[in-house]
Amino acid sequence: MVHKRFTILGGGIAGLAAAIALARQGHEVAVLEKAKTFDPIGAGIQLGPNAVRALQKIGAWDAVEPVTYAPPALCFRSGTSGRVLKQVPLGTAFESRFGQPYRVAHRADLHAGLLSVAQSLPQIEIAIATSADPSGVAGPVLAADGLWSTTRERLFPNTAAHAQTSPLFRAMVEMPQNPNIRFECVNMWYYPGAHVVHYPAGRSGKLNLVIDAPKIGPRLHFARAAKILLDVISSAPNWTQWTAAYVNPLATWHKNNVLLIGDAAHGTLPYLAQGGAMSLEDAAALMTTTDPGEFEKLRLSRCTNLHEQTLRMGKIYHLSGIGALVRNTALRFSSAESVLGRMAWIYNG
Ligand SMILES: Cc1cc2nc3c(=O)[nH]c(=O)nc-3n(C[C@H](O)[C@H](O)[C@H](O)COP(=O)(O)OP(=O)(O)OC[C@H]3O[C@@H](n4cnc5c(N)ncnc54)[C@H](O)[C@@H]3O)c2cc1C
Repeated sequence: MVHKRFTILGGGIAGLAAAIALARQGHEVAVLEKAKTFDPIGAGIQLGPNAVRALQKIGAWDAVEPVTYAPPALCFRSGTSGRVLKQVPLGTAFESRFGQPYRVAHRADLHAGLLSVAQSLPQIEIAIATSADPSGVAGPVLAADGLWSTTRERLFPNTAAHAQTSPLFRAMVEMPQNPNIRFECVNMWYYPGAHVVHYPAGRSGKLNLVIDAPKIGPRLHFARAAKILLDVISSAPNWTQWTAAYVNPLATWHKNNVLLIGDAAHGTLPYLAQGGAMSLEDAAALMTTTDPGEFEKLRLSRCTNLHEQTLRMGKIYHLSGIGALVRNTALRFSSAESVLGRMAWIYNG
C-alpha cells in the first residue's frame, strides 16, 4: 500500500476516528481543529452495536469501553398515561444477536478516549488552526468540520444544513431517584408533538435528558403530561437550547482532493441516535478504502437510508390522537424481538 499524507479538517468524533483509522493503515495524518481547546460540548451519546463495532475496527474500543455504561433495556413509555409500552432487554441475548453490546457514554469521555488514542499514534499530528481551509492544501483532505461545515458549502453551494424551527432542550442532572422509573435504562417517552429521551451519561453518575418540543419550552408543552413524566422534566432546573439540523442527502461527498465525512457529509437529526455512529462507521470504512468513489459506494446509500428513516421516526415519535393510539398499541403488542428486528439493518452494519 502507498502511504499518503492526509489532512483532516475538524477534530470531533469523525475527524479523530478517521485519523486513527488512517494511522492504523500506516498513513501520516494532520488533524486541524478550529477550536482553541478540545473541549467538546458535554452531553450523552448512545453507542449502538454498529458504533461499538466501528470503534473496535479502528482500535479505539479499549480506550472508550471503560467510560461507557451498559443500560439493561430500552424502555418506551407513553408521556400522556405514563404507562410502560415496551421494554426491550439489552443484555446477553442482545449482545449475542448483534455481536456487540449497546452502550451509553458522556460525549466528552468518548471524545477524550478517541483523543488519547490519536495522541498515542506517532503518525498523527494535531494542531489548532483557526481558519482551516482546504484550498491551499496539497494531498488528500477529509473535511470533518461538522453539521455546519463551511467546506461542504464551499464545494457544493446551497447545501447549508436545515435547522428545525423548534430547538432541542438538553440537560444533565444528578441521577434522580424514583422507584417507578428505571433511570439506568434508555428511556423514550412519546407525547403529542414531542418526545423525551433520557439515559445515564456513561459512568458519570449523571442523567442525560433531551426534549424535542416546540419553542414554548419544555414545561409548558408538557402541561397535560402524566405526573411521572412531569417529575422527570422537573428534575432539570435549567435547560440548554440546541438547534437541531440536518444535511439534505448529497449525490456525492467528494470534489477535487476533498472528501466530506461525518456530519459534514450526512448530518442527520438525533431521532435514531445514529449520527455519531455513522461518523465512526465512516472511519472504519476508511480502513477498507481511501478512494473517495469506493468510499461513497460503501457509505452513501446507507447514510441516506438512515437519514430518511430518521425523519420517518421523528414523525412517528410525535404522533397525536388516533395515530398515537395505533403506535402505542402496536408497540405494546409487538415482541421485543420484532422491535429489534426493525433496527437490525442499522445495528448489523
Ligand atoms: C441532541 C443530540 C443527541 C445525539 N445523540 C446521538 C447518539 O445518541 N448517538 C449518536 O451516534 N449520535 C448522536 N448525535 C449525533 C452526533 O453528536 C454527531 O453526529 C457527531 O458528533 C458528529 O461528529 P462530527 O465529528 O462529524 O462533527 P462535530 O462533532 O460537530 O465535530 C466537528 C469539529 O470540527 C471543528 N471545525 C468546524 N469547522 C472547522 C474548520 N473550518 N476547520 C477545522 N475544524 C473545524 C469543530 O470545532 C468540531 O470540533 C446526537 C446529536 C444531537 C444534537
